[in-house]
Order: sequence, then C-alpha cells, then structure tokens
Amino acid sequence: PAGVIVVGGGQGGFQVAASLRDEGYQGPVTVIGDEPCLPYQRPPLSKGFLTGKAQLAEIQLRPAQFYSDQRIDIMHDRVESIARSANRVRLASGRALAYEHLVLATGARPRMPSVPGAHVAGILPVRTVVDAQTLLPQLKQAKRLAVVGAGFIGLEVAVAAIEIGLEVEVLEYADRVLKRAVSAEAADYLARAEMQAGVRFRFNTAASGFVERDGRVAGVQTTVGETIAADLVVVGIGVQPNAELAQAADLAVHDGVMVNAYLSTSDPHISAIGDCARFPATYSKTPVRLESVQNAVDQARCVAARIAGRAEAYAKVPWFWSDQGANRLQIAGVAEAGDLAVVRGDVAAGKFSVFRFRDQRLTAVESINSAADHMASRKLLACAARISPEQAADTRIKLGALTI
Ligand code: FAD
Repeated sequence: PAGVIVVGGGQGGFQVAASLRDEGYQGPVTVIGDEPCLPYQRPPLSKGFLTGKAQLAEIQLRPAQFYSDQRIDIMHDRVESIARSANRVRLASGRALAYEHLVLATGARPRMPSVPGAHVAGILPVRTVVDAQTLLPQLKQAKRLAVVGAGFIGLEVAVAAIEIGLEVEVLEYADRVLKRAVSAEAADYLARAEMQAGVRFRFNTAASGFVERDGRVAGVQTTVGETIAADLVVVGIGVQPNAELAQAADLAVHDGVMVNAYLSTSDPHISAIGDCARFPATYSKTPVRLESVQNAVDQARCVAARIAGRAEAYAKVPWFWSDQGANRLQIAGVAEAGDLAVVRGDVAAGKFSVFRFRDQRLTAVESINSAADHMASRKLLACAARISPEQAADTRIKLGALTI
C-alpha cells in the first residue's frame, strides 16, 4: 500500500505523522517539508529565540531518532503538484510518489506590504527558522527597529527587541493593537504594558514606502506623511494560506483549502489541516481558518484518527496564547468584533479575564496572567455552559461551579 503522504513538515504535519503511529496505523508515513530542518515549534521564533532564551535544538518537536523509531520518513523536498486521478504527488526533485491518503498541512506565508522599497535589505518577516536566523544578527546590530503591524507577532517582536536594547516603534493602521483578535479591554492593557517597557506606537498609520540608504532600509514612510528612521524593519501584517497546490488540483479554495466537518476536502483521499484549512465550526456562520498551535495539533489528531479508522467530526474548543514580555495572554473560543466584553478580575494588578458574549452566549474568554480562568473557560465553552455577564464579572462565583 502507498500509505499516507503529508505535505508540510510544520506543527500540523508533524502531528499527523506522530498521531498516525499513536493510533496504531501500520502503513508507510512520509512527511514532505520544504524547510531545511526537522519539524519545530514556531511560537518561540518571535519570543525567546530573539532574546537568546531559546535555541534551535530546544524548539525542535522531536529529535531525529524519533522519526526512525516511528518509521516516519521525513523528506526535505517540495510538493509541486497533485495528480488526483493517479493518487500521486510530484516533487521539486522530480520524483513522483503514490499515496493512499494525502494530508495538506502547508501552513501559511507572511503577507508583505506592496509598497515602494519593500524589497530593500533589512525588511523582514518572521515565519520560519531561516527568517529568525536572518533577523537575529541584524537585531543585535540595529539601533532602531520599526515594526509594521501591531498583531501578535509584531507585539512579541517589539517587546523582545526592547529587552535586548533597541529603540522600537510600532506602526498600526487600525486605532489600537490586536484589533482583529481581542477586545479593547485586553488589547489596551497589553499596549500600555508595551509602552511602559518603552515601545512607541503610531496608530491609524500604515507604511506607504521604505527609505533606502546604501542598499539597506533606513526608514519607513507612513500614510500620514512622516518618515520614521529605522535601520531594521519587521513586518507582521498577517499571513496568506498556502493553498495554491490544492487550487491547482481543482480542490475548493477560498482563502484556505475548504474542508468538511471531518477535515476532508471534496476528494475523500485528501484532507487539509492547520493554518491552510478552512473548516465549518458551530461557533461561526461561515467556515473559519485559525492560525494556532492548538488548531494544527487537534486537527492533525482528528485526521490521523479517521485514517486509522476512527472517524469523528472536528469539534474542539479553539485556544491560543501569546507571551508579550512578562505578560501572558490566553484566549479560549473565538469572538467577533461586536461581542460584549465583561471584565473579571483586577486590571490594575495585571491579572484579569475578559468574557465575550453574543446573543447572551459566551463566545470567548481572553485571560491575562490568569491561567486558572483560561482553563476553566475552556471547560465552560466545551460544555456550552450557561453563564451570564453578571456571573462572569462576579469573582465570588467560582467558574468551575458553572460547568454542567
Ligand atoms: P506550519 O507550521 O506553517 O507548517 C507548514 C509547513 O509546510 C511549512 O514548513 C512550509 O514551508 C511547508 N510547505 C508549504 N507548502 C509546501 C509544499 N508544497 N511542499 C512541502 N512543504 C510545504 N500559535 C499559538 O498558538 N501561539 C503562539 O504563541 C504562536 N506564536 C507564533 C509565532 C510565530 C513567529 C509564528 C510564525 C507563528 C506562531 N503561532 C502561534 C502560530 C502557529 O505556529 C501556527 O498556527 C502553526 O505553526 C500552524 O501549523 P501548520 O502545520 O498548519 O503550518
């Protein structure tokens, strides 16, 4: 038998392979990844890896021995096309491999600003180990860092750069940080903490161009007509799913590879998971695409179980974390911009959660330095517990008592 081929050796691709073996799957398992290293965790790349707290060897998901022990074949190659009628993939190296089941775990790639000067040296994304290894020595040499985009990665890089002594200025086209992802209450707390650490922010401001001097970036031109001096720029303006492979194979793609509740594409021999996949979720009217470790790992487990004969619809509560300096944000569930926000805990003490509601229903909980709230919230969301905004705000009521 041809076995399982996994396209992409990131968080999700690794997990499919490992979980197939956990599930007792005996057939061949091949992970084809186009990065030059073994599967690793991306989260430290914008955090401890930049401040010297995490080294490459420590962020690898498993040592090489694991893959040989588990009979998981890791190939450093790129899948160029899928011949669905023949159940075969073609690789950049020219090889063709047959599969019984194909899992697309191709992730996403950073969006870069399409403005003049964007290709000048010193303007960098942070997605891969190679990106982080390119950034690291430049961070050590630079004096003034400009960060384009106040999303999770931008904020994490900003505070890491402050820690190693740079001047940091963050440009954000919205009127506050983390506008797409979290409530104003949580976002404002995190922004204040960054400002206290020394990060400067410019809101309602986007990059309109980059200034070049001696072949290297020297500044960012902004949409409000200013030029911000910077000898290094990190871009964190979101990602684009790697879905071209699926699209070229005539699978449905709509900002991500479309999958059903079992994470299968319209071709029963092909599944998609993680950052590249868009799936139906009970908490959303339209299919969602999530970018988180939890989502990649749990979807990988779901697909591995199905391939091994235990099919189950995907229905996990999403959760996410972001470490910004000393502050840890943890999110359970998925909120929409208009959802009600109710604070529980002590904002001034930097230990609180924001409970989000839509139509009287809890949609998400954003916890700052409150791990117990986060864990309890995941349970509340998993059992669709009834909790009112008043109960959420009342710290005398134990969250655990509300799970049915
Ligand atoms: P990836 O991990 O991106 O893996 C996809 C892989 O497929 C890549 O190696 C890619 O090169 C490869 N590939 C693509 N196309 C092909 C092809 N045709 N052939 C072969 N290989 C291919 N999440 C959190 O929950 N918390 C965090 O704190 C957090 N921090 C993050 C910090 C950074 C800097 C980044 C970049 C991400 C962070 N994330 C975080 C998000 C999390 O890492 C991703 O959601 C997760 O890695 C998604 O896993 P994936 O397998 O879908 O994609």
